[in-house]
Amino acid sequence: MESRHTIAGADGSGAGVTGVPAPGSTNPVARAAAANVRTNVRAAILTGERSTPADRPGVPDPETTAYRILAVGAAWLTAAVLAAFAPAPDEEWHAVLGLSERGRPISVHRFGDFASPRKILVVGCIHGDECQGVKITRRLARGAVPAGLDLWIVHQLNPDGHRLGVRQNGRGVDLNRNFGSEWIPIGHRWDPQYSGPRPWSERETRLARTLVLRVRPDVTIWYHQPQALVRAWGQSRRTARRYARLAGEHYRSIRWPNGTAPNWQNHTFAGAASFVVELPPGRLSATSAARHARAVRLLLAGR
Ligand SMILES: [Zn+2]
Repeated sequence: MESRHTIAGADGSGAGVTGVPAPGSTNPVARAAAANVRTNVRAAILTGERSTPADRPGVPDPETTAYRILAVGAAWLTAAVLAAFAPAPDEEWHAVLGLSERGRPISVHRFGDFASPRKILVVGCIHGDECQGVKITRRLARGAVPAGLDLWIVHQLNPDGHRLGVRQNGRGVDLNRNFGSEWIPIGHRWDPQYSGPRPWSERETRLARTLVLRVRPDVTIWYHQPQALVRAWGQSRRTARRYARLAGEHYRSIRWPNGTAPNWQNHTFAGAASFVVELPPGRLSATSAARHARAVRLLLAGR
């Protein structure tokens, strides 16, 4: 399962880190890193909140793991907060943003030129049963980063939902209706678009908020399924249209629903683009994943 790879090494061991640049890369940073085989990886827990018991029958209670990670996190926290957002340039870097509602680590990986003012965020999965975008983010993490870019990747923002095979998070909330912009109450717990008891009620959306507020990305791409189109609204339309052209996908201007991540980002950061790429249903082929990863690189290289 993709998410297992995502969270591997999140205890700070450094194991399971993805994105070590491939040998032969055209990116000098990537080349140097690959050649030296001493890529400096720092893992840290940036935020942590107490775990809450699983509230759905048949799901193992992850608290033991959660508390073990929190214990490690407490020791790392001070150093991590200092180091996390000001790492030395040209390092491979990843961190645990925090824990999901059921105590699973959510990681962020960072690549490229950390000093660059051009910040990019790509999220592979937010709806737990729409996770083929992780194949794209993993490709991005393995390849060369276009020059002058500070690339942040969250492969899996919803590890609980992915483990359960559901759209919502581990508490039955649609994370992409739980963001604090134009939030409205929708449905009930485990309904497909249940927006939660209040905006930002879920740990995963709060972690995303923390990350976005710190990074302030110029471009954010959110992968979903299964509509097979690129969709955007407002200020993000131009960039999204360009992505669609580069990826050979359909584009449609669609007003962002209430409480979505792009809704919040577009209302919070003037001039920044945040849009959704809806992949087709089912499994994404290696060819398609490569095509999308290439589109991301071209989009960012030319912006
Ligand atoms: Zn979705």
